[in-house]
Amino acid sequence: MLAASSLAGSAQGSAASSSLGSKDPSLPLAGKVVGIDPGHNGRNYADPTFINHLIWNGRERETCDTTGTETDSGYTEARFNFNVASYLAADLRTKGATVVLTRRTNHGVGPCVDRRSQIINRAGADVAIDIHADGGPPGGRGFTVLEPIADGPNDRVIAASRHFGLVLLRRYEKVTGVPTSTYDGSGGISRRDDLAGLNLTTVPKVLIECANMRNAGDAARLVKPGFQRLAARAMAGAIASYLEQAPKSQRARRLD
Ligand SMILES: [Zn+2]
Repeated sequence: MLAASSLAGSAQGSAASSSLGSKDPSLPLAGKVVGIDPGHNGRNYADPTFINHLIWNGRERETCDTTGTETDSGYTEARFNFNVASYLAADLRTKGATVVLTRRTNHGVGPCVDRRSQIINRAGADVAIDIHADGGPPGGRGFTVLEPIADGPNDRVIAASRHFGLVLLRRYEKVTGVPTSTYDGSGGISRRDDLAGLNLTTVPKVLIECANMRNAGDAARLVKPGFQRLAARAMAGAIASYLEQAPKSQRARRLD
């Protein structure tokens, strides 16, 4: 676990700040590793050949990534995802966690979605979150938590992922006031078998579509730094709550 963690950390250039937080054993998340995947990247549009090449997502081929969506005024999903991830990483480090991010800036291309899963898997994360915002119908609003369906690689983390998903759903709804989606999933939950991030995960993980960027009401909130901090705080609270409740057997198995 340590080797994988430091590998991913150095690849992302975040090892120094990560280890700093985890050395104080009195902090609530000391010794915990949290994976954060801010979906897409700010310059994915600039390299369609790379972004459109096919990767294996655990069930079928899909493209390396997409550009992501944006609001009607042009505020990109990649930027939103990255901002929330940055606030979340800071919150978690303050609590003592080691944080593994799949990208460090919002002006690059990639990595592909399969590689993002590998980075978090190899770090041996205790829990992970993929951060997105949706490009849904303009008349629909709200957030959705996407959960994995068993397909082999993720078999052992289905139950834990669903438990984390429920903790996240409740916390996010309460803290941000964003309602569960009016157009996707059921009661804010959607189980998906078409995403590399969920198909390939070997650590408990969900993906959150934080709101609908194509809806004027949702979009007006999403672009505000205050809302982005609030979303991150909700996620940090859910992660801390989940990790406090995680069964010991889950931890023991991962340390093998
Ligand atoms: Zn997305």
